[in-house]
Amino acid sequence: MREDVKQLLALQEIDQKIRALEAELLRIPQLQETAKDRLANDTAALAQAKANFQANEVEIKKVDLDIGTRRNSIERLKNQQFETKKNDEYTKLGQEVIRYEEMVDALETRELELMEIADDLRGNITAAEAALTKTQGYVDEEIKALEDRATERRKALAEAQSLKEERVAAIGDEELLDTYHRLFNKRDGQAIVKVTPERSCTSCHVQVTPATYALAQSGAAIAHCDNCSAILFI
Ligand SMILES: [Zn+2]
Repeated sequence: MREDVKQLLALQEIDQKIRALEAELLRIPQLQETAKDRLANDTAALAQAKANFQANEVEIKKVDLDIGTRRNSIERLKNQQFETKKNDEYTKLGQEVIRYEEMVDALETRELELMEIADDLRGNITAAEAALTKTQGYVDEEIKALEDRATERRKALAEAQSLKEERVAAIGDEELLDTYHRLFNKRDGQAIVKVTPERSCTSCHVQVTPATYALAQSGAAIAHCDNCSAILFI
């Protein structure tokens, strides 16, 4: 292989590494955001559990208030009963008292049911909080691991960039470097490529002419693919 092609190949290798590191560094913040999104479900589940508990508490208060109102009515009816001189009114008020007491009984039963439900709902909140804490732990770990990876990649990138500078300086030929960089960008990082024994360019996969192949073989000059202009080596 020609010495300049060999040097360009070494430069391309480091440029490909730089390109991969830059792409990875761009992806890391996105991956961190995705990790944070995983908290959304658990946060929503906890909010729902709290809302369910709260709605039940409101229901309990309502029943409690109803019981209070009925008890006041019972007291009022009993006072009326105490004050009346009429037998039939006394009996009627007594029946009313019984009717209200039955209502209070039913409401108290309902209140006990709601309190049992409250226990379950409180348990749901505890479970949802535990799930959120667990997920938060995983997410924190993942974000930290991604941060560590980014630090490591930034270091590798700085090293690669300084190595690139060395390799560019070693080549020195501005025109050749321009051609290389133009090809590298245009051919998606495939500026210097192998040409197969079947004369196929491994950048564009088109077959080169026998003359081009022969040039790549002899190394008399830099051979370019007839189709995509990539620099060829065998
Ligand atoms: Zn080609």
